[in-house]
Amino acid sequence: MSLPAGRHFLQIPGPSNVPDRVLRAMDMPTIDHRGPEFAQLTREVLTGLKQVFNTEADVVIYPASGTGAWESALVNTLSPGDRVLMFETGHFATLWRGIASELGLQVDFVEGDWRHGVDPAVVEEKLGADSEHRIKAVMVVHNETSTGVTSRIAEIRRAIDRSGHPALFMVDTISSLGSIDYRHDEWGVDVTVGGSQKGLMLPPGLSFNAISAKALEASKTATLPSSYWNWQPMIAANATGYFPYTPATNLLYALREALKMLLDEQGLDRVFARHQRHAEATRRAVRAWGLEILCLNPAEYSGSLTAILLPENQDADRLRQLILERFDMSLGTGLGKVQGRVFRIGHLGDFNDLMLAGTLSGVEMGLAAAQIPFDKGGINAALDYLADNP
Ligand SMILES: *Cc1c(COP(=O)(O)O)cnc(C)c1O
Repeated sequence: MSLPAGRHFLQIPGPSNVPDRVLRAMDMPTIDHRGPEFAQLTREVLTGLKQVFNTEADVVIYPASGTGAWESALVNTLSPGDRVLMFETGHFATLWRGIASELGLQVDFVEGDWRHGVDPAVVEEKLGADSEHRIKAVMVVHNETSTGVTSRIAEIRRAIDRSGHPALFMVDTISSLGSIDYRHDEWGVDVTVGGSQKGLMLPPGLSFNAISAKALEASKTATLPSSYWNWQPMIAANATGYFPYTPATNLLYALREALKMLLDEQGLDRVFARHQRHAEATRRAVRAWGLEILCLNPAEYSGSLTAILLPENQDADRLRQLILERFDMSLGTGLGKVQGRVFRIGHLGDFNDLMLAGTLSGVEMGLAAAQIPFDKGGINAALDYLADNP
């Protein structure tokens, strides 16, 4: 057992580490959410959020985890019995599909091997075959947090365009927003789903929808029941600086502070480059250890996390437990189909070179302690890359 001293390493791929100044920004009196000061806060966070989504369209904020914003995207735009196209990229795509099925949508779920992203050619083929336009929406998880695979949203958009199909395009960016380049308007996304606790460096509790004009139009005729999630009262209240129900005031303070850090101080492009650099350093460590990166397509490597596949007869959860006990570091568990086979290193959010060095040190010491066969030198491979690419 480690002594209870020093700081816990929270290296799961979300919730991510919350910067102290974001925590301090929350440590404020809760204000009247119908007063003038609050209206100013609403305007500031909505303006900043639009920059993060790269959109001029409406963005709404729910006091909810990401799962709520998944449901919201569906109930606002679709009707019972509508057909939708989804892809089994991993655990989160499977969960979103579950919500769609429970809501009474007919899901065409394209099977996947959990090691690749969505294939744009399959999107084009599926939509091309639907000459009657019965498919109402295509749903994709941008960064599949269970596998460390990032689907190529711009290419999928081009595939949809080539098919000439009018389906709505919805994208889950819960673990990519603020970590990996994302462009709601330019990529023609109709509903983007986001969450607070990953790249945005906030505690859990907020989630978002960015809504295209086409999605807003669809919401006028969609008949799935919605009340709490309904966009119309939210957008109407937001226009005057307020919410239709009590907002998560103190989390909005945190959001304002995090947006200031991401947009004004660090700059999104530099934030994305930092994530790519830490991801590459992590992969170099994994290769030097002689272990396998779960993602098989280098064009789809995730900037926010790396999922590592252990040899057949090794237990990834035993390794994680040992690392937690000895080194006080939490790593991501294998989810769904890859449970026990995979562990995940989160390198997203408020993160720097020395935090990565500490994280990889914990993994390398853990591999040795668990007597998992591996080659030493992963840390050095990562540090060399960081030093050569300042
Ligand atoms: C974390 C995550 C979710 C789930 O969000 P909750 O906040 O746990 O409801 C959904 N999709 C992706 C890609 C995620 O990473």
